[in-house]
Amino acid sequence: NASRSQDICIQNTSTDAATCRLSAVKKKYICDEYAQYFIKRASNLSPIMNRGTFCRFLAIQNTISNFLSALNASNDSACRPQILSLGTGFDTTYFLNTSLCQSAKFFEIDFPAITKKKKSIIQSNANLLKFFKNFSESGIDQVEINTDSYCIISGDLREFDTTIANKLLECGFDTKQPTLVISECVLIYLEAQYSNRIISWIDKHLLNVGFICYEQINPDDRFGQQMISILMERGINLPGIRSLPSLKSQEDRFITNYRWNYSKAVDLWEFYTSIDPKEISRISALEYLDEFEELKLLLEHYCFTVAYKCTNTYNQIFTKI
Ligand code: SAM
Repeated sequence: NASRSQDICIQNTSTDAATCRLSAVKKKYICDEYAQYFIKRASNLSPIMNRGTFCRFLAIQNTISNFLSALNASNDSACRPQILSLGTGFDTTYFLNTSLCQSAKFFEIDFPAITKKKKSIIQSNANLLKFFKNFSESGIDQVEINTDSYCIISGDLREFDTTIANKLLECGFDTKQPTLVISECVLIYLEAQYSNRIISWIDKHLLNVGFICYEQINPDDRFGQQMISILMERGINLPGIRSLPSLKSQEDRFITNYRWNYSKAVDLWEFYTSIDPKEISRISALEYLDEFEELKLLLEHYCFTVAYKCTNTYNQIFTKI
C-alpha cells in the first residue's frame, strides 16, 4: 500500500546519507575509515555536496565527542553516558567514538530493513567486529545487537512511546544517566504529532538530556520549493518541515512546550562561517568551488539545533552553539 511504499522510499535515504559521507571521505573533507564498509558503490558528489556533508559532519560529531569527552573527564565512576540515535541508518558515529565509549552506551533505532542490514554488515566485517568482545544474538525480539556499549533496535519511530521506549528500557537504557539524543535528517520525515510524542517521552523521563537535530528548513522560497519537489519525485515527503519551517520554530519546540534550559538553532551557512578559517582553507584546497552563492543557498536550507535541560551537576556537558 501507499504508506508502505513511502516508508521504503524513506528507508532508501539512509543509503543517500552514507553515499554523501563516503564521497566527502574520499575527497578528504572528513575522516571516517568506517564509512566505506556500509556502502557498496562509492560516488563522487559535487564540491557543494561535499562541503555540505563536511559542515554537517563537523557540527554533529563535535557535539557528540564534546559530550563524551566531558563525561569521561569528570571521573564520576557512576556515570554511564548514553547516546540515543533516532533513525541512525548506516551512520558510523559509534565506531568513530569507540575510544570514548568505554563507559558509554549507544542506542540506535531504525526500521528493521535497515537495522538487519547494518547488523549483517558488522557481523561479516573483521574491522567492525573487532570492537565487540562478545558478539552474540541479543535474545530480545526486535533487538539486533545488544552489547555493553552498543545496541541496535528495530522499530518504527511513530511507535516510540508505545513500543520502542520499552525496548530501550529492556536493553539497559537508563533514564537516570545523562543522555544525548541525535536526529540527523530524521524527525523531518515524521508528522509533527509523532516527533512531538518522542520529545515528550524524552522530556518526561530524562532529567539530564541534550538533543541535537539536523534537518531541512525554509520550504517556501524558490530553492526550498525545488528541494521539496525533487524529493517528492522520489516518493519522499517532509511533513515535519510544515510545522517547523524556521530557525525560531525549531528552537521553540524545546522551549515553549518543555521549558528546557537552552535551545538554539543556526542555519548551516551561519555554522559554516563560524568554522576555523584554517579548516576552511584546508577544504578549499581540495576541490575547486565555483558556485559559492549556490553553496550559501543550499546551507541556508539546513538547520542545526542544540537543546538541553539539565541539573547543576551536568551543566557543562552540552556544548552551546
Ligand atoms: N541519521 C542517518 C544519517 O544521517 O546518516 C540516516 C539519515 S536518513 C536521511 C533517514 C533515516 O531515518 C533512514 O535510515 C530511515 O530509515 C530512518 N527513519 C525515518 N523514519 C523512520 C521511522 N518512522 N522509524 C524508523 N526509522 C525511520
